[in-house]
Amino acid sequence: MIPFVDLKQQYTHHRETFLKAMDDVCSTAGYILGPAVDRFEERFAQWLGVEHAVGVNSGTSALALACIALDIGPGDEVLLPANTFIATAIAVHEAGARPVPVDVDPETYLLDLGAAEKVLSPHTKAIIPVHLYGCACDMDALTAFAEAHRLTVIEDACQAHGARWNGHCAGTFGAMGCFSFYPAKNLGAFGDGGMAVTNDPGLAGKLRLRRNYGSTRRYEHEVAGTNSRLDAIQAAVLDAKLDHVTQWNAQRFEAARRYNNHFDGLKGVQAPVLFEHMPGRHVLHLYVIQCEDRAGLQARLLDAEIQSGIHYPVPIHLHQAFAFLNMPAGSCPVAEAAASKILSLPMFPEITATQVDAVAAVIKEHYG
Ligand SMILES: *Cc1c(COP(=O)(O)O)cnc(C)c1O
Repeated sequence: MIPFVDLKQQYTHHRETFLKAMDDVCSTAGYILGPAVDRFEERFAQWLGVEHAVGVNSGTSALALACIALDIGPGDEVLLPANTFIATAIAVHEAGARPVPVDVDPETYLLDLGAAEKVLSPHTKAIIPVHLYGCACDMDALTAFAEAHRLTVIEDACQAHGARWNGHCAGTFGAMGCFSFYPAKNLGAFGDGGMAVTNDPGLAGKLRLRRNYGSTRRYEHEVAGTNSRLDAIQAAVLDAKLDHVTQWNAQRFEAARRYNNHFDGLKGVQAPVLFEHMPGRHVLHLYVIQCEDRAGLQARLLDAEIQSGIHYPVPIHLHQAFAFLNMPAGSCPVAEAAASKILSLPMFPEITATQVDAVAAVIKEHYG
């Protein structure tokens, strides 16, 4: 069987290191915030090249708290891509603002600024580029667009730990950048976790206050915050994993390149754009092809004991949860067309060349 992701291998390879990291937290009983969280926040900020990092309990929470810290709320509209994980839109909604799904580019599936221009309104206050599948957005164009229309930029880098645009990490361009450490992400915890990063000390302070019941001194509460802290055990594990992410991202890229070579010239399959001439732009959280006869191919892969996935089968505006947006089918034609053709193939750092070749062989047979 070739799994879609395999989280067990990482644990097996680094078991002693992880156990020691967790033991350090447990033997000092420093479970809530404290040195383990401080240390990981500092090292993650340094790794990204940003001033401040604030650990929270999920990527969704990082996005929602970033919106609140930036005064984005009731009456405000926030642009975001129609093709993203639902959490991007849920976080905006949670902050009280209105998510406005925008169509995407047919090759990269990233937010299309031409489409964004058409849905601007006097209420548009912010834009959330999502570095989807691990591919950094064109942050030059995005920043120029945001400046021209006076929009706040919050980056959803939940799938793009270490992805780079022009040498700078995704998440470090906007007012705030948000990360998820959900286990299957490029940098994943042993449970939930997230981080919001910024170069603005004032914003970092607001996040620190909000994540801890609105309190910096025990039992004194300046704002009605929430409980959204990065767990100390998770921070210790993530800190240990941080030493390996760059290497793991490189391994993902190698696997993707191997897949792409197989699919070169194959009719029926559109391989992802890897931006080889822009080193580090794509860190392949997911390896997503577009294909004809997706159901047939998926069934054939399953016959060969190969798992695959769809990210995402339903664009944001077509979910029942967002029916109140009143955006019927046809509102974002590119995202909608892609949703019925995209297929994610097995992708994880430890995937072997033999496994990639085996997946590709089944696909070539199907379309050959
Ligand atoms: C995973 C993810 C999130 C949410 O992160 P959680 O930690 O699961 O809350 C948000 N946006 C995108 C694009 C994601 O992939």
